[in-house]
Amino acid sequence: MDYLEQIEHKSIHIIREAYSNFKNLAMLWSIGKDSTVLLWLARKAFFGHVPLPLVHIDTSYKIPEMIEYRDRLAMEWKLNLVYGQNKEALANKNTFPDGNATRIECCSQLKTKALQDTLHGIGTRYKIDHDTGKYEIWSNNEPFTGVIVGVRADEEGSRSKERYFSPRNVENNWEISAQPPEFWNQYKTEFAPGTHVRIHPLLDWTELNIWEYIERENIPTVSLYYDQGEKQRYRSLGCYPCTLAVESCAKNPVDIIEELKTGKFANIAERSGRAQDKDDGGGLESLRKGGYM
Ligand code: SF4
Repeated sequence: MDYLEQIEHKSIHIIREAYSNFKNLAMLWSIGKDSTVLLWLARKAFFGHVPLPLVHIDTSYKIPEMIEYRDRLAMEWKLNLVYGQNKEALANKNTFPDGNATRIECCSQLKTKALQDTLHGIGTRYKIDHDTGKYEIWSNNEPFTGVIVGVRADEEGSRSKERYFSPRNVENNWEISAQPPEFWNQYKTEFAPGTHVRIHPLLDWTELNIWEYIERENIPTVSLYYDQGEKQRYRSLGCYPCTLAVESCAKNPVDIIEELKTGKFANIAERSGRAQDKDDGGGLESLRKGGYM
């Protein structure tokens, strides 16, 4: 078994553990490469069918190609895709790019609050109809008590502090110093009532592993990751007002793997093009303590 197979098996084991231990479980899909690998692993874990709702938080500022890709795959793979959105903040212009908020305030509203409301069943959930391809209000308002997320430990400092099964309290706050130990493949999956658990099957994967796996499995990804002739591409995808491309001539996963192996980005953080990570002076950790992914 090669290394990619080892981490693939471990991730599938964690996904199945989560599915068998949490009643109301969902999986987040940001449309980026990591959560798409996670989705691919879930399809493998359950033999082609994903038995969980996939939750996407739509800030309305995502790059249009991302939304087109999301909807195309949702139809092709018959995904139970649900999206949530903070329509009130958008209507009141509590937003950064064209409104009256800072980046941190905008992320708190359009991402963190939208996510919390969607997970808790307070906010409206919109579910895709596979017959029409349109979204309709989903009548299911039951809170999700667990959510599977595609964060990686090497991606950003605060994510390296996560557990595979990481508890949050009722307010979704993250007590970093009070997380359960995890030895070998033994995971704590029983938590006090009211606990919300985030499950992280991709913690061991690196950026290079992700691209090697995408290439090996031929996983469809958003074209924005590749140079379209302008000698630049996105290394990490997000909202268009806050996401910058990197200089690169990589046109496919093989080119990206070669580029990463040159060490070109060794000293440049993967999320360095994501402006909101830097805006509070303390990086992403303070946002994540409050519920941000
Ligand atoms: S990334 Fe930018 S546009 Fe998107 S929610 Fe955060 S501040 Fe707003």
